[in-house]
Amino acid sequence: MSHDDYPTDDPAVVTCGLPYANGDLHIGHLRTYVSGDVFARALRKLGQQTAFVSGSDMHGTPVAVNAEKEGVTPEEFALRHHEKYEATFPKFNVEFDNYGHTHDETNTELTTDIVRTLDEKGYVYEKEIKVAWDPIEDDPLPDRYVEGTCPYCGATARGDECDEGCGRHLEPGEIENPTSIRTGNPAEYREREHKFFRVSDLQEYLQEFIDRLEGTDNAKNQPREWIEGELQDWCITRDLDWGIDYPNGEDDLVLYVWVDAPIEYVSSTKQYTERVGSDTYDWEQVWKDEGDIVHVIGRDIIQHHTIFWPAMLHVAEYEEPRAVVASGFVNLNGEAFSTSRNRAVWADEYLDEGFHPDLVRYYLTTTGGIERDVNFSWDRFQERVNGELVGTVGNFAYRSLLFAARNFDGTPDTDVSDEVEHRIESAVDDFAAAVNDYSLKRIGEAATALAAFGNEYIQRNEPWKLTDEDPERAAQVIRDCVQIAKALAVVFAPVVPGKADDLWSHLGESGSVHDADIQAALEAPPASFDEPSELFEKIEDERVEDLNEKLQASIEAATSDEDEAEDEDMSDEFEPIADDRIGFEEFKDLDLRVGRIETADPIEGADDLVRLEVDIGVETRQIVAGIKQLHDVDELPGTKIIVVANLEKAELFGTESNGMLLAAGDQADLLTTHGDAEPGTKVQ
Ligand SMILES: [Zn+2]
Repeated sequence: MSHDDYPTDDPAVVTCGLPYANGDLHIGHLRTYVSGDVFARALRKLGQQTAFVSGSDMHGTPVAVNAEKEGVTPEEFALRHHEKYEATFPKFNVEFDNYGHTHDETNTELTTDIVRTLDEKGYVYEKEIKVAWDPIEDDPLPDRYVEGTCPYCGATARGDECDEGCGRHLEPGEIENPTSIRTGNPAEYREREHKFFRVSDLQEYLQEFIDRLEGTDNAKNQPREWIEGELQDWCITRDLDWGIDYPNGEDDLVLYVWVDAPIEYVSSTKQYTERVGSDTYDWEQVWKDEGDIVHVIGRDIIQHHTIFWPAMLHVAEYEEPRAVVASGFVNLNGEAFSTSRNRAVWADEYLDEGFHPDLVRYYLTTTGGIERDVNFSWDRFQERVNGELVGTVGNFAYRSLLFAARNFDGTPDTDVSDEVEHRIESAVDDFAAAVNDYSLKRIGEAATALAAFGNEYIQRNEPWKLTDEDPERAAQVIRDCVQIAKALAVVFAPVVPGKADDLWSHLGESGSVHDADIQAALEAPPASFDEPSELFEKIEDERVEDLNEKLQASIEAATSDEDEAEDEDMSDEFEPIADDRIGFEEFKDLDLRVGRIETADPIEGADDLVRLEVDIGVETRQIVAGIKQLHDVDELPGTKIIVVANLEKAELFGTESNGMLLAAGDQADLLTTHGDAEPGTKVQ
């Protein structure tokens, strides 16, 4: 089954992965929300009825852990962050039709109802499982209360997710070498009775679902292997006080946070209907009958949205998602954002600097394809704002409308030329095609390319030379430019909603550009308007220097705090040196060689893994390494590394790894040589 192109006659709902009510937002977090907002606005522009919803994720262990640290209740802690998020999103022109939270009544009721249905239909069973337990404190350690080793890839992992390795969801009891994050005590496994959702029965359905699913390639490809492999049943309860109680449960079990979190998408849509009335928007039609459901998420939660979530919806007889759009992460100056190291540009900080929200929206939406990681730096930000927004878009709009206002008091009284009409039509087509391909970057480019055309058109026709020589021709050229400016406001509106509204009012239009559909791009602007103001402001070099200094200072301040803390308690930062000494003979068993990376390719569907061809002198080896997030893959070839050449072969994500490279620390700082040791040289 293939879907009809957007806009369809059905209502659509666009959702954003729920922010976890657990900390402050930085601009890296904003990517998902801005992307969702852009897509929802773009669908509406095409004329599709669209609701845009999300809510805060209040439950789960991180909230419980952090509330405990602060000495407040989890509810108090989570609500505080929820309110902060709710206030922050609109400041970035991210305007949800409804923004709820998972602990409210609507979601509690709907979750209870859906889980009851799963149970009644025979999809839930009880099983004794091993649960991590702190033997000294006599406390259960669900999910993120425990850390250990991923049984699939060997990376350090959290109790519920291999977040630094293969990205898999981990079931309770799976993690090896469990340790309590509350006390640092080695944990033990105890037998406990838990509820399981029979996902394994839904393999056939999920296979068909994934074939139908639209969205980004990562969201369609990554789950295939999991679905086609051995699908595991899913433990849906936890030994925890904070959460939604298991329905009819006498036991002290709550639902796993990933059960009630996605249900908030439905609850939030329902609350929207309750507010506007079902004549305006019918949540039941979209979720239970026919609707286009589009989930915009970060790529770390693909598995939840393409396996567990559609499985639940299917059994509970709800509509399945039409598309999952999974975005890459945002890096800062080439490195991951780090909240603890204050390596971040905070959402509040950005606004306090007085930057318009649309600038960062433009940056996040159009810097790379949505699947790619985006690097943010103030230098690049300046470059793109000054070049594309000020130089191309702003420049075109300002010079055209100023010329029109001064010479014609507004729109010249003549028709648009065929050339310009066709050019606008093709921008409208590009826009619609980009929406149907879930390409936010191309939505933005449809607008900037139109502005670039406008600049070229005005330059080519030089209307300033024509006002005396050929006033009729001058009127024609300016009429065309005013139309391009209007089309620009319409096409650019989803990406830069505030600035597009400014341009709309410069054109003398009444109301908001967001109430106009895409066809307005070809409709005549008002006959008269005043001289415009500049749409965008240039960012000066000194400003960027200043911003870079501030960022550096805040990172250094955080690092020196950390150093002080380190002096007090080194053991927090570094593992103690191993007690057991090994003999030289044992060391000699390791065959370490100098290698040179020949090629490096990201492994499709795996978040971190790169496939390397490494020249180790005697032969060229294929090695798989979990370094994709930490290194620019294109820059790896030519790098000299140290390889464990006699390690047993392993298979990672279906790819054979014949050896292992050595790297230090969480940032995978690659070991290398500093002289001219050739590939193949033994390390001793
Ligand atoms: Zn793993």
